[in-house]
Amino acid sequence: MYLIKQGIIFSLLAVHAQLFAAEHEHEQHEAHVHGEAQLLIVQEGDILEIEFHSPAMNIVGFEHQPKTTSQREAIEAAIDALKQPDLLFRLPSAAKCHSMTTEVESPLYDHAHDDEHEHERDHERSDADETHSDFTAHYHYRCDEITQLESIEIELMKRFPGTEHLEVQSISPKGQQKIDLTPGHTTLEL
Ligand SMILES: [Zn+2]
Repeated sequence: MYLIKQGIIFSLLAVHAQLFAAEHEHEQHEAHVHGEAQLLIVQEGDILEIEFHSPAMNIVGFEHQPKTTSQREAIEAAIDALKQPDLLFRLPSAAKCHSMTTEVESPLYDHAHDDEHEHERDHERSDADETHSDFTAHYHYRCDEITQLESIEIELMKRFPGTEHLEVQSISPKGQQKIDLTPGHTTLEL
C-alpha cells in the first residue's frame, strides 16, 4: 500500500513540476531572474514532498562552471547545505515528519569533480554560451501526524541570502495556493 501510494505521489509531483516548469519556461529562456527562486510543496496521505529550484547565482554567487578551487569548494558547500533539510525547513514537531530521501542536482556539481583537462574544455564551452545554471533539490518526508502540519518555517533565504524572493506553490488536501515569501516573511501556512 505504501509503495503504491508513494508511486502516485511521485507521479503527482512530476505532473505539477512539469506544469510549474512550463509556467516559467518563457521566463527562463530569456533568463531566469537572479534573486528569485521557486518552491513546490505537495502533501498527500502521509507524504510531504518539497522541490526547490533556484538560479545558481543565489546559491553560490556565479553560474559558470567552476574555474578555481574556491569556486569548486563553494559548490560542494552549497550541496552539503542543501542536503540538510533540517536546517532549511522547520516543520512542527507535532507532525512527526521524518526525512526519507534528499536529492540535490546542479549542472555545476557534475563538474566540481572533473579533472583539469575536461574542465578546461567545459570552461570554454560555457564561456561561449553564457548559460544560466540552476540548483534543484528534492526532499521527501513521511509524517506520522500529517494533520498537524499546519505551517512550515522556510529557512532557505537565511541560509542563501542571495535569495530575495521565494515563489511558493503548495498543493495539499486543503487546496492549492501560491504565495511569495521574502526574508522578512518566511512562514508558509498550509
Ligand atoms: Zn542566471
